[in-house]
Amino acid sequence: MPAQLHFNLLTLFPEMFPGSLGYSLSGRALEDGIWSYDAVNIRNFATDRHKTVDDTPFGGGAGMVMRADVLEKALLALPIERGRTIYLSPRGKPLNQRIVEDLSQAKNLTLLCGRYEGVDQRFLDAYDIEEISIGDYVLSGGEPAALILMDACIRLLPGVMGNETTPDEESFCGDGLLEYPHYTRPAEWTTADGRTCTVPDILRSGDHGKVRAWRHAQSLALTRERRPDLLPPDPEND
Ligand code: SAM
Repeated sequence: MPAQLHFNLLTLFPEMFPGSLGYSLSGRALEDGIWSYDAVNIRNFATDRHKTVDDTPFGGGAGMVMRADVLEKALLALPIERGRTIYLSPRGKPLNQRIVEDLSQAKNLTLLCGRYEGVDQRFLDAYDIEEISIGDYVLSGGEPAALILMDACIRLLPGVMGNETTPDEESFCGDGLLEYPHYTRPAEWTTADGRTCTVPDILRSGDHGKVRAWRHAQSLALTRERRPDLLPPDPEND
C-alpha cells in the first residue's frame, strides 16, 4: 500500500534524512509505511566533471547561489510526482500549525533544502515553488528546517500518534491557545535544595468539569501573557 504522505527531498546532504525522524513515533510510522521519502542528491545532476551545483551571484556580493539548471534536472528526475513544492527559506511564509494541517493532507510534497546564499530566483519562479520559513533566524542549510516541517506533518497522519496525545488540546490546535501546564507523580516533590513543590489541588479532586475549567483558564492566562497575538479578537475593542 502506498504511504499516506511521501516526501521528495532535494538536498546536497541526503544522509541527513531521516535523521531525527527515524526515532520514536515518526520512526515507527516510517517502518510501518505510513510515510515515506526519497532524498535526492542535487549534486548527482551537475553536468561538469567537478560536479558544480553553485556559482557566484550576478551583481556581485558574497557567497554562492545554487544553479537553476542543476536544480531543474533534479526536480524533473524525481521518481515520484512532486506535488506541492516548497523551498525552505527564511524569506518564506512563517510555518504555523494551520499550514502544517494543510500540508499533512497532501499525498506528495517536495522540499528543496537550500545551502550557501540560496537558490537562483528563476528556478523558484519557473516552477511555482512556495517558500516557507521555520522562523525569523538564519540556518546554514534547509535540511533541519525540512526535518521540522516533516515532523510536524507526520505526527498528524492517522495512525501515528495513537492515544499519546489529545490533538485538540495541544498548543495552536482546537481553540488556538497555548496548552495548559502538566503535572505527574510524585504529587509532592522536593528539589535538591529542599524546596517542596506540590500539584494544584484541583487536578487531584477527581472533578472533571472543574479540571477542564481550570485548564482552560490556565491556557487563556498563559496565552495572554506569552502570545497575546493568538487570542481571538475582543468584540468590545472592535
Ligand atoms: N541568504 C539567505 C537569506 O538571507 O535569506 C540565507 C541562506 S541560508 C545561509 C542557507 C539555506 O538555509 C537557505 O537557502 C534555506 O534553505 C535554509 N534556511 C535558513 N534559514 C531558514 C529558515 N529560517 N527557515 C527555512 N529555511 C532556512
